Amino acid sequence: MLSILRPQKLELEAIYLGLLSAWRIKLLSRVEYPLKADVLALLEALGLTVSPVLRVAENGTRVTHWTFGAEPRLVEQYRREYEGTAIAGQLPAVVRAEGRYFGYPPCCVEAFIREPYAPNGLTAEEQGLLFHYACPGCRETSRLIPLYQAALAEARDLHKTMFRARRRHTVRGNAAASVPYPA
Ligand SMILES: [Zn+2]
Repeated sequence: MLSILRPQKLELEAIYLGLLSAWRIKLLSRVEYPLKADVLALLEALGLTVSPVLRVAENGTRVTHWTFGAEPRLVEQYRREYEGTAIAGQLPAVVRAEGRYFGYPPCCVEAFIREPYAPNGLTAEEQGLLFHYACPGCRETSRLIPLYQAALAEARDLHKTMFRARRRHTVRGNAAASVPYPA
């Protein structure tokens, strides 16, 4: 994902993930950075349940993950299972559980456990759209790619609209601030 979405585009990434979950292409989604109020509002407007989940990193730091999905029960189940727990490495059980929660194709999850990052025949751009690593010649992933592309296009539109709304807001704010006090 990072190959096409640079850090300054994290908001776009959150909206993209939100659409993938709202369209039920991907069950749950998770980001590991704070979300601005208007991004949160947008995710909720998409019908998603958003929940912070507190995790503990390897060095003991507490970090907040934002989890969102179209099924409130699944979001809650994930929160209950992981709240306050240590972030584990890529153990098979963790990879499988996350694959189930985040809606990754089981064939890709199992192939990843057997041999992580085996050449899969996808272009860097195709693989960059995904949040799972596709298994070699994956049929399920080739069915998913056009849906991911559609979600990314829609996310770009929504992100642009949000940006314009912010700018309007700022202009109004500045105009108000420049009105002189009655004297
Ligand atoms: Zn696969």
